[in-house]
Amino acid sequence: KDFRNNIKPNWCPGCGDFSIQAAIQRAAANVGLEPEDLAVISGIGCSGRISGYINAYGLHGIHGRALPIAQGVKLANRELTVIASGGDGDGFAIGMGHTVHAIRRNLDITYIVMDNQIYGLTKGQTSPRSAEGFKTKSTPEGSIETTLSPLEIALSAGATFVAQSFSSDLKQLTALIEQGIAHKGFSFINVFSPCVTFNKVNTYDWFKENIVNLAEFPEYDPTSRIGAMTKIMETGGLLTGLIYQNKERKSYEDMIVGFKEEALSSQSLDISREAFDKLVAEFQ
Ligand code: SF4
Repeated sequence: KDFRNNIKPNWCPGCGDFSIQAAIQRAAANVGLEPEDLAVISGIGCSGRISGYINAYGLHGIHGRALPIAQGVKLANRELTVIASGGDGDGFAIGMGHTVHAIRRNLDITYIVMDNQIYGLTKGQTSPRSAEGFKTKSTPEGSIETTLSPLEIALSAGATFVAQSFSSDLKQLTALIEQGIAHKGFSFINVFSPCVTFNKVNTYDWFKENIVNLAEFPEYDPTSRIGAMTKIMETGGLLTGLIYQNKERKSYEDMIVGFKEEALSSQSLDISREAFDKLVAEFQ
């Protein structure tokens, strides 16, 4: 079960994305997957390269469209474990419409956002996750927009699994990805992944000083949606761990009447040649 391939990532030395790649590879091995059981679908950005760095099925999609592709893959082949991944610009700006609707649709896939609070690939512009006052080439006087809170949005959209982690905490991140894969529904995992080249504010040290680990609150109940929202707001969205899980709601696939477990390619068409040719002719 080796999810490593021989492609050397071209992320900058020290980029948080390296650890997220390692965590996905470890989690996939730990839950007993084989490379042919896994599909990693990514969007555009530094983070989008991740699908090429994992020994599994992979597709490096288009900007903000990792989730539509990942959902299509899952609907075509329920036997695959599907992980979608991309950056905060990819998922929370151009792709936000897809993110919200994928959350409420609740297909059984895992979405990992590599959140560095900046656009790294295009050399450092303000993203929806950048803090107010954040100065970049696109906001030289400091951002005057409210920072987007992905955890609050995920909960509001009806998420059944919400978690957050930090790329430096490989143990926690790997465990959360394992839980996300095991969850029967859409698993949303936001991961703080420092951009060491362009984000000089949200650094490794900054996160270490400001993150609030849910492990500090042994009485915390991740099945309470109100409790989760309260904790997110109390901590300014900087908490890590399993924030919310609803095991009661069925996945989208499980609610479709007659939707088969087998991949479409394994299913019999159960149709005569004549009827098949007639069907094809209608679409020509
Ligand atoms: Fe990572 Fe930033 Fe370099 Fe992109 S620019 S690879 S996000 S450190």
